[in-house]
Parts: sequence; structure tokens; C-alpha cells
Amino acid sequence: LSASRRNFLAAGLALPAAGFANITSSNKSGAPVSMQKLEDSLRYRTLGKTGMKVTSVAFGCMITSDASVIERAADLGINYFDTARVYQGGNNERMVGAALKSRRQKVYISTKSGGRTKEAALTDLDTSLRTLGTDYVDIWYLHGKTHASDLVPELLEAQEIAKKAGKIRFAGFSTHGGFEDVIPAGIALKHFDVILTSYNFTMGSSIDKILDDAKAAGIGMVAMKVMAGGFRTAKAGTRQYDVLKRDGAFLSALKWVLRTPRIDTAIPSMTDSDQLDQNVTAMTSQYGSTDEKLLAAQLRHVGPLVCRGCGGCEGVCSKGLPTSDLVRFAMYADGYGQFALGRERFLELPDEQRAVRCSDCSTCPIRCPNGVDVVGRVARAQELFG
Ligand code: SF4
Ligand code: SF4
Repeated sequence: LSASRRNFLAAGLALPAAGFANITSSNKSGAPVSMQKLEDSLRYRTLGKTGMKVTSVAFGCMITSDASVIERAADLGINYFDTARVYQGGNNERMVGAALKSRRQKVYISTKSGGRTKEAALTDLDTSLRTLGTDYVDIWYLHGKTHASDLVPELLEAQEIAKKAGKIRFAGFSTHGGFEDVIPAGIALKHFDVILTSYNFTMGSSIDKILDDAKAAGIGMVAMKVMAGGFRTAKAGTRQYDVLKRDGAFLSALKWVLRTPRIDTAIPSMTDSDQLDQNVTAMTSQYGSTDEKLLAAQLRHVGPLVCRGCGGCEGVCSKGLPTSDLVRFAMYADGYGQFALGRERFLELPDEQRAVRCSDCSTCPIRCPNGVDVVGRVARAQELFG
């Protein structure tokens, strides 16, 4: 272990909030921001049994391309940053590592591997560490698991090996769907320290029981996709813009996630300083009836666009498409404004799935009880990326 790593472990798990009172800063609009005020906005929660005291709002770096936003977040006191091997073709890890290099001992970093074998996952980890410029990550997630059968013994073994080698502190997996299958299986294995799950207001109370069970088992719960697809990028002058850009809907969405102690921290995506400043305030804001009204309106508009990953589809695609994933890929482009990300994920599908076109089907057997326009969104993914 490096000297910095040893010192860090010797210092215990609770990282101090940096002293920021004398730092001055400004957001994207150039307005000066009171750092003392922002520091007062920080709230910490302990991530399950890991002992990691994380800010309740952390930072999902997946779509961030401006390193200064990450640097500024760390200076404000946000202390947990999430990336993955595949984000931006590896460039996301490079940027995150460079942005946090001088702050490494003050922050927690997680990354992920989608490797399907022990060897592939461990190779990914070594590449991640090299790219991030660190000798360990705090959490290493198995990336994007949907079924209990995805949590194969050799990947768990890879995490054990990595732990023993001091390359990771804690083991986790991430999931976008199939919660009723994969999360209980993950709990039962008694192997995982942390689970990173999609969780947002479109899901209501549907996974509360699962979250309670994970909490009772001492697993740290991290929420992603908290903005239910974002959809900040609607063009001015369109009806979608008028509705989705309504003031406060995104802050309300984050507050909705933080309102429950079932979640230890949330990792919203942030691409600029204004979003960062707004998200920081969610740590101390109470969720109330105004938020509820905003989110009810938001739900009416994003409802057909955002798959909750509940696994409750009526019918299955006769061509074998992973329809829930394809709805998500279309969301990356239309909701986040991240065409390249959606295309990257689409191109990871097997050739035979990429070649399918919904327009060749006379009917689609899939119905979503939550009102997602499944065939419309899958066809949209094919139109965008095919
Ligand atoms: S399409 Fe609907 S039913 Fe199917 S997983 Fe998504 S939200 Fe659930
Ligand atoms: S319309 Fe699309 S999603 Fe539906 S069965 Fe055909 S290929 Fe599958």
C-alpha cells in the first residue's frame, strides 16, 4: 500500500469535511457564492456498514465533461464521486482522476466494471486504477446487473481478490432494473457492502420494501437516475420545454430521493456549476407539498418516456430485445442530451439485436402498466443509434 493509503486507513474511515470558509467561488452565471453558506448546507449519512460518511448529495460523473465542476464540488465539500470504466470510453475516469488527484485523501471514489469473467473484471480494475491515477477505489461495482443470475461466483471472487490486494475497499453492484430479483439476491449473498440502484419519483413506493431489507442487512444504498431521465434539454419554445423546465422540478426530484433514510446518498449527474449549487441545497431542504405538485406534473410528462426498470412488462419482445435497456439508451440521448452515451451502450448489444427494427413488426406484445410507450421508445433508440 502507498504511504497515502496507509495514512488514510490509519486516520479511520470518517473523512473530515475540508475547511472551506476562506475559499471564494462563483457559479456559471458569475454570481459570487457564499462558501460558508454552502458549507453549512452539507449533510452526511453513513453508507451502511462501510463506515464511510458520505455527503447525502454526491456526484455522478457519467456525463460531466468539465473537470472544473468536479473540482468545485470537491472544494464545496461533496465527498463521493462515481464513475465507471466504460463512461466516455475511459475518458471519464481520466478526467475524474485528474480533477481529484490533489484531493484524493478527502474524497471517496467509486468505479465499475462490466467484465463478465473474473479475469476481464480484474483487468478492468487495473486499467481503472491506472486511468484514475490512484492505487485503490473506495467502492468497486459490478456494472449493470439485472438478474440474480448475473451475480456469478467468479465476479464475487474477483471482488474478494481485489479487496485482499488493497485495490478496493468495498464491493458493490449497480442495477437499473429487475430490482425484485437482483437486489434480494444481492442481499442474500452476504457479499456486497453497497448497492447502487436507480431510484426516483416515477417509482413511488414500489421498491421501499426491498430498500428496507437492504438497509436491515447493513448494505449501503446509493441512488442514481434520481432525475428520472433529466429531460433538461428540451428546446425553448416547445411545449415540452415549457413544462419540463418548470422551476424547481429537478431540485424536487432530488429532495424526493433524499426524503427517505432508506437511501444513504444520491449521485445526480451534474454538468455545470449552477446544477451543482442547486443540488447542494437539496441536502438541507425539506420535501413538501410544493415539491409533490411539481413532481406530479413532471410525472405526467416523463411517464411515457422513462422506464422504471420494475420488470413488470406484460409480454416480451418476440425478437429478444432488452427493451427496458433500449428505453434507457433513448433516454440518455433525449433526456440527458448525451447521444454518444446512448450510442455507446447501443453498440454493446449483440449484432442480431442491433439489426432488429420495430417497424418490421405488425404488432408489439409488450404493454407497460406504468404507461411507458415501450415500442415508441425502442423504435426511437433504433432510429437514433441503429
Ligand atoms: S417498461 Fe414499464 S413495466 Fe416494463 S420495466 Fe419499464 S416501467 Fe416496468
Ligand atoms: S415492436 Fe419492437 S419491441 Fe415490440 S416485439 Fe417487435 S421488435 Fe420487439
